[in-house]
Amino acid sequence: MYDFIIIGGGIVGMSTAMHLIKVYPDAKMLLLEKESGPARHQTGHNSGVIHAGVYYTPGSLKARFCLEGNKATKAFCTQHGIRFDECGKLLVATNDLEMQRMKALWERTAANGLERYWLSADELREREPNIVGMGGIFVPSSGIVNYAQVTAAMAAEFQRAGGEIRYGAEVVGLQEQANEVIVRTQRDELHSRFLVTCSGLMADRVVGMLGLRTEFVICPFRGEYYLLPKQHNQIVNHLIYPIPDPSMPFLGVHLTRMIDGTVTVGPNAVLAMKREGYRKTDVSPSDLFQTLTTPGILKVLAKNFRPGLIEMKNSLFKGGYLKQVQKYCPSIIKADLTPYPAGVRAQAVSRDGKLIDDFLFVNTARSVNVCNAPSPAATSAIPIGAYIVEKVCEQVGLQGGSFPKADLSANQRAAS
Ligand SMILES: Cc1cc2nc3c(=O)[nH]c(=O)nc-3n(C[C@H](O)[C@H](O)[C@H](O)COP(=O)(O)OP(=O)(O)OC[C@H]3O[C@@H](n4cnc5c(N)ncnc54)[C@H](O)[C@@H]3O)c2cc1C
Repeated sequence: MYDFIIIGGGIVGMSTAMHLIKVYPDAKMLLLEKESGPARHQTGHNSGVIHAGVYYTPGSLKARFCLEGNKATKAFCTQHGIRFDECGKLLVATNDLEMQRMKALWERTAANGLERYWLSADELREREPNIVGMGGIFVPSSGIVNYAQVTAAMAAEFQRAGGEIRYGAEVVGLQEQANEVIVRTQRDELHSRFLVTCSGLMADRVVGMLGLRTEFVICPFRGEYYLLPKQHNQIVNHLIYPIPDPSMPFLGVHLTRMIDGTVTVGPNAVLAMKREGYRKTDVSPSDLFQTLTTPGILKVLAKNFRPGLIEMKNSLFKGGYLKQVQKYCPSIIKADLTPYPAGVRAQAVSRDGKLIDDFLFVNTARSVNVCNAPSPAATSAIPIGAYIVEKVCEQVGLQGGSFPKADLSANQRAAS
């Protein structure tokens, strides 16, 4: 019998495991991941940006966790010798409408407590000679990192503290009973007093195994990138983002300096035909059927028909994609857009047809389930893990569990 089982070896699951074993050092803990290693899905297929928290609704979990996560990720990297670069981010307005939207973003960054600077067109050119715009916002705390490395370090910390990780262990069934949760993998049946699920693109299916009627479904959106040729590795000094349409803040390709020294363009957002499929040609008939027969998703697609169509067109024809980036970086040409692996976002959609914006958790008596953890969940993984552990501690208390707790303040003193 395990005390805790965690499902999912992405950054959210690993962070949770790492926090949980610090709080309950004597408990028996197991993390199950269906792939052969950590960070094989969203965590290993993203832009690698340590976000500062520019766009998020003030007071939301996203805004709070992003601000905390930005600092915590950098501190974790410093502690574990993981390279990161606090290169800062520039949001660039290229026309009057974007200048207006930029003013609204300026207010939002103030409400979210960010250090930021308003740049004139001249100041923008001075910082970024290859970027054109009417003005910009400079956010110095944004950075870059490789999140797969961060996740591997979290896994190592969990194992060093006595946690067990099983890779290649797909959970296929869950049953919550009065005193335990039964967890079935393809090979065996495991028993645990408590369960945490952090299953990303499979969140609705894993939560569904508990017999819950979920109020959300996962809609997978591909994020496609291009890599700029090596001679453009110095084309920008910061991360360069367009000013988004506030109703669709996740749209708009950016120029991203990666931690390995390269520069990518992207990602876009097109409906994926397979949840964990990374090639354009990857299709899962069952995933696609589920996506296209879910009323909530159909409503979202209908509401966003025009921008969705443009994203699809730009995915099929490089010319459209190129125009988006040429708007603020005119020297990039079509031949500069070379192939780069895509990612697939797990976006929860409510049954009544809304994109769920904030992080979403669903709890039962013995489980805590992460149901929506889109960007910036990699940045926010450390505070998300700590938050989940708080919820788990409440459940342990309510269920009359009696695990010896570590003296965290002493631990934290030792770590600092
Ligand atoms: C294109 C793209 C760009 C992004 N850019 C950024 C960025 O720059 N900065 C940022 O902060 N965030 C970014 N994000 C978001 C971020 O990557 C994710 O929010 C974060 O990685 C989510 O982590 P996770 O652990 O919840 O999910 P995942 O990393 O997807 O992990 C879930 C894990 O659960 C496992 N699993 C699922 N079902 C089962 C099962 N039945 N049994 C066992 N294991 C199971 C999966 O194999 C997987 O490893 C981006 C995302 C995408 C897709």
